Amino acid sequence: MSIRFENGIVVTLGKSNRVLWNASVVTDGEKVAALGPAAEMARSFPGAEVVDCSGKVILPGFLCSHHHFYSTMARGMAPPGEPASNFVEILERLWWKLDKALSDEDVTLSAQIPLIECIRNGTTTIIDHHASPAFRDGSLDLIETAVRAAGLRASLCYEVSDRNQPGGGIAENERFIKKTGMGDGQIAAMMGLHASFTLSDATLEKCVGIARDAGVGCHIHVAEDAADRADSLAKYKVPTVERLHRLGVTGEKSLFVHCVHIDEAEMDTIAATKTSVAHNPESNMNNAVGVTKVLTMLKKGVLVGLGTDGMSSDMPAQMRCAYLLQRLDQRDPRVAFMEAPQMLLQNNAEICERQFGLRLGEIGEGAPADLAILDYQPPTPLSEANFLGHLIFGMVDAVVDTTVCRGRILMKGKKVLALDEERLAARSRELAPKMWKRL
Ligand SMILES: [Zn+2]
Repeated sequence: MSIRFENGIVVTLGKSNRVLWNASVVTDGEKVAALGPAAEMARSFPGAEVVDCSGKVILPGFLCSHHHFYSTMARGMAPPGEPASNFVEILERLWWKLDKALSDEDVTLSAQIPLIECIRNGTTTIIDHHASPAFRDGSLDLIETAVRAAGLRASLCYEVSDRNQPGGGIAENERFIKKTGMGDGQIAAMMGLHASFTLSDATLEKCVGIARDAGVGCHIHVAEDAADRADSLAKYKVPTVERLHRLGVTGEKSLFVHCVHIDEAEMDTIAATKTSVAHNPESNMNNAVGVTKVLTMLKKGVLVGLGTDGMSSDMPAQMRCAYLLQRLDQRDPRVAFMEAPQMLLQNNAEICERQFGLRLGEIGEGAPADLAILDYQPPTPLSEANFLGHLIFGMVDAVVDTTVCRGRILMKGKKVLALDEERLAARSRELAPKMWKRL
């Protein structure tokens, strides 16, 4: 089916970003068939269904390098006991209790709700990290079903950790990796690992072996808090990244999340092994773990992208947060203007390409038809030359009107079409308090 997204401001992104006024994007099935002046596209594709995009900006769908769908039902919950005073306590008192309380229906709803939020925010591709020890086997299949029904793309993994039982989660991860193989462009698989401080050498070796045999990467939290670094230094006499590197966790398909407490030698190892990094500035600030040295990593050639870590599904917000945080941290109003959008746009596209084997994040002939169409009337001239200024200070707050993934319209006129938002939220409100009681 062919659809003409007509007469908007098209921002192509990609290697040579173009900003085209009064332009249309024509999709054919899952791909972009053409883009160009609206009048020309109307002449060339007269039979296409038309979606009016006047007063709107047409961007490629946003990509998220690290998410936790399963964290959804923590929203509004009062964690039991005293407030956590540090990162490890946050895990022990909140997340490691919550993940153990999730039932099969909780897992499904916990994915469906943020998938709706992804659609609402124009986020079309997500790399997720899942944990639900009480309902583990088959949990990734439920999430896959939810992602396919939502019409989005996701790379899925199960968080292996020794904290409940040695090697807990390996079987589920291995099963899903074997089932998914190299993926179909919509669903991909990774080997999920919690973090160095909850994983023994034996477990890591086993997981790395499974990932290598299948040709997939590892998705692991790295030095999110100083405690992870201290644990590695105390037990293994090397910092976190060096330990993981010696065990073979690094590599072009692997994704190291956070990397807040790493030194320059560790950054060099990450760069040399072409391992990707997912930066989650809102989450780092929320957990008060520190400021990631993303500018140093980028200078060293590390591929640093952006994730939400379950905080939200709003990617432009993460970009602005990264931008503001680096400026404040460096006490320098000259930094991060180029780097924050680079992480969101180019680097997330590169990270996702390694997982899905598809070049996402740009609009071009033959490219995947993934679009985020925003209400945005530029109050000053908008061109390739000043696009980043409009992105950081304007589009970041623009409401997404229409979301398209794989050529399918998932939301139109701010109405989510792919899933029944009202019914799912109502069911989640019924189940969440029951789950909270099991904590
Ligand atoms: Zn995370």
